[in-house]
Amino acid sequence: MAKMEFKAESKRLLDMMIHSIYTQKEIFLRELISNSSDAIDKIYYKALTDDQLTFNKEDYYIKVTADKATRTLKISDTGIGMTKEELENNLGVIAKSGSLAFKNETELKDGYNIIGQFGVGFYSAFMAADTVTVISKPLGSDEAFKWESEGADGYTIVPAEKDSVGTDIILKIKENTEDEQYDEFLEEYGLRSIIKKYSDFIRYPIKMDVTRQRAVEGKEGEFEDYSEEQTVNSMVPIWRRNKNELKDEDYESFYFEKRYGFDKPLKHIHISADGAVVYHAILFIPENTPFDYYTKEYEKGLELYSNGVLIMNKCADLLPDYFSFVKGMVDSEDLSLNISREMLQHDRQLKQIAKNIKNKIKSQLLGMLKDERENYEKFYKSFGRQLKYGVYSDYGANKDDLQDLLLFYSSKEKKQVSLGEYVARMPEDQKYIYYATGDSIERIDKLPQTELVADKGYEILYLTDDIDEFALKSIMSYKDKEFKSVSSGDLGIESDESEKSAEAEENENKDLFASMAAILEGKVKEVKASKRLKSHPVCLSSEGELSIEMEKVLRSMPNGQDVKADKVLEINVHHQVFQSLKDAFDKDKEKLNLYTNLLYNQALLIEGLPIQDPVEFTNDICKVMV
Ligand code: ADP
Ligand code: MG
Repeated sequence: MAKMEFKAESKRLLDMMIHSIYTQKEIFLRELISNSSDAIDKIYYKALTDDQLTFNKEDYYIKVTADKATRTLKISDTGIGMTKEELENNLGVIAKSGSLAFKNETELKDGYNIIGQFGVGFYSAFMAADTVTVISKPLGSDEAFKWESEGADGYTIVPAEKDSVGTDIILKIKENTEDEQYDEFLEEYGLRSIIKKYSDFIRYPIKMDVTRQRAVEGKEGEFEDYSEEQTVNSMVPIWRRNKNELKDEDYESFYFEKRYGFDKPLKHIHISADGAVVYHAILFIPENTPFDYYTKEYEKGLELYSNGVLIMNKCADLLPDYFSFVKGMVDSEDLSLNISREMLQHDRQLKQIAKNIKNKIKSQLLGMLKDERENYEKFYKSFGRQLKYGVYSDYGANKDDLQDLLLFYSSKEKKQVSLGEYVARMPEDQKYIYYATGDSIERIDKLPQTELVADKGYEILYLTDDIDEFALKSIMSYKDKEFKSVSSGDLGIESDESEKSAEAEENENKDLFASMAAILEGKVKEVKASKRLKSHPVCLSSEGELSIEMEKVLRSMPNGQDVKADKVLEINVHHQVFQSLKDAFDKDKEKLNLYTNLLYNQALLIEGLPIQDPVEFTNDICKVMV
């Protein structure tokens, strides 16, 4: 009998399994039981469409039997079974649906993570067993086959005897070693607790023979052992159970079991709705951003069950894009089992559920922001960007749902604050919500444009994410307060005094500013006396809707839109350089040219914009020095 080889990646995985650390080994049982449950599901589905097949609930179960004497553990099911080809294809290569397909090399090497986080299906059996034997008889056939393997060297398939349809997985449990106890997998108590821990919500009974004691009839005081078959799992899915009976850990293990994420969820939401539409839902807000979250590959959606039967893995219509990070499931009795995807989109019930869910998520997030700030900030770090996209997309249609969930760094608080918090502490004379944009907090801290607003004692929101300003523009105003960039033309706080002096200077030096504007033709729209600068000599500001920061973002987009903000070069007329400018204007036009270009380039640098000709700029500096 020829041995067949495993495919290369399967070999690698097998090796990893065998050398995994002990504490994770017990999950092999979860994997095998979940395969059995899937196999019974398959019969169940078939029976739904096939009149010849009836599904009697009592006939379908999973049985776990241990035999210490032979060190064997058997997991049997009455599921759909496998043909010879299926044994070959499904167990000879890593399962197609298995979670490994999308893992990359580095993660594969780091076996610890992968096993803990994903579970790896059938191969996990080799963590606990030296030899794995699978005897299976598929539905609609009277031939059975035996698949057997001792691990990495390959496997064999031969004809076998089996009475009923289904699959037996027989594990020859490893011998105990100095630091690893495998006996637990042969003991009633150990097995029961592993099943309880990981497979309690499996919908079919998981049976075990348990040893019990009874009094011996006629002999007082004497007891004898007898064996009784018991169902170990509670079978009631977690979402149908009473919230009060469930602990955080129950939800966490559900999250884990369902592979919703690799992290511990920050929050779970358990909904049992019995209003217009009856449904149960368990939703999770993950802590970490999934590795593909901000890519096209990421698919949002919730699992959708109709009365306990999974009908769709990722029902996208249940979640708005801005809450696409939410994981979980919905089970409703009001949905038809064989509803098609197209019909589902128009389903009134589904729309109602989606709306309820959206509101629940929103109120949970608001609650978190209010009462669990630290968790909310963690959440925001992972998914805040998505919320901001949500505000911006669809022409701001969702801003009312989202604006209260946004956080921005505050110049005053030195931490993230919400718009509500900002507005609540605005002094009475403050008209606008001020913000400044830049690559980083440190950079914005040094922006000359912030001087006047900061001096006035007003709080400034720092926008460091490229989407930020677009989001605020979509909101337009919050609690009747408009947003105002510290770089915008009119800040609405110029003190009369400085305003007047700037105006006076501007009138007096009209010709100077006009010549400077001529020198910077095509680069800036205007040169004028600044009303906001205190200690810095120059800055750029913008007129009109498009800010300098937005110009940067739009230009860096893949199909680089060639848009330009209307830039204004502001000169601090109280700064010493202004005197030099005036002198140059009077006496030396070439010098004026030099100074103007220098100042303009400085302003660009401060703004984080590229200088057109850096060599010329450095040459200009040298000219000033000599
Ligand atoms: P997954 O369950 O993610 O598909 P597994 O490695 O756990 O990956 O299983 C591989 C495949 O082997 C399954 O998809 C299924 O087709 C088949 N299989 C495993 N166990 C059984 C079983 N008890 N009954 C029928 N088919 C099974
Ligand atoms: Mg599996």
